Amino acid sequence: MPDLKGKAAVITGSTSGIGKGIAERLAAQGVDIMLNGFGDRDEIAALEAKIKSDHGVRVGYSGADMSKPEEIRGLIKQAQDLFGSVDILVNNAGIQNVSPVDEFAEERWDAVIAINLSSAFHTIKAALPGMKEKGWGRIINVASAHGLTASPNKSAYVAAKHGVVGLTKAVALEVATQGITANAICPGWVLTDLVRAQIEARANESGRSFDEEKRVLVSEKTPTQDFSTPEQIGDLAVFLSSDAASQMTGAPYSIDGGWMAQ
Ligand code: NAD
Repeated sequence: MPDLKGKAAVITGSTSGIGKGIAERLAAQGVDIMLNGFGDRDEIAALEAKIKSDHGVRVGYSGADMSKPEEIRGLIKQAQDLFGSVDILVNNAGIQNVSPVDEFAEERWDAVIAINLSSAFHTIKAALPGMKEKGWGRIINVASAHGLTASPNKSAYVAAKHGVVGLTKAVALEVATQGITANAICPGWVLTDLVRAQIEARANESGRSFDEEKRVLVSEKTPTQDFSTPEQIGDLAVFLSSDAASQMTGAPYSIDGGWMAQ
């Protein structure tokens, strides 16, 4: 595993699920961590304390709302003030909304695009000058299998995630000679709160139990018929942050149990 001691990371949406897994894996390599996301304040404080004591790194927290550009700029500034720089930027915050396109609520469309796509533009815009100054940076955008293919009833999410993959490529080209890489991670199914909500909604409709619906959901798209874990996504983020990955840029990396091979 690479030694990333002395680097500092901002991980949006890291109070649960994949973002939390990425934060823990980066911290295990010595990276200072700025957490972000919503949730119970005591649980977030406990997560901060646990990462600190498990890994001996500095940990901060910002409750910045990723749908609000001013707050996003505040998140990056807070991390720069606390750690001196933002070396690794992980754009992970995301929401889902499932509905046929002709019934899709307009405010849900706007929220999905803002949180899943535009927030990455705002964080990158704010963090990039510091990375350029240091001549080193890693931008890791958590896209999705839905950044590479579509499913019905997820128009905003699919549009946002394809947008994230495009943004990743464009940014990678702009900074290619400056020691900065930009890549996208494209997970298939990971059993997080975001997916639990979808399984519950489907189980309510089908009459199946949660566990049975979970099995049906994962086997529909995933050849391995299993979920990836937040820790596995975290380990890929660690690798993309390492010097071994300095020539890997502008690309989407699937971690999806074979979904994209079909
Ligand atoms: P999750 O619901 O467990 O975590 C989402 C995180 O984003 C939470 O920390 C939440 O507080 C935060 N968040 C939501 N809205 C926010 C806002 N407005 N401002 C700041 N933070 C906000 O979900 P997850 O599955 O861990 O999803 C993380 C990312 O991974 C998302 O971008 C999602 O699209 C992507 N993804 C998930 C899966 C999956 O199967 N779970 C698959 C592919 C991609």
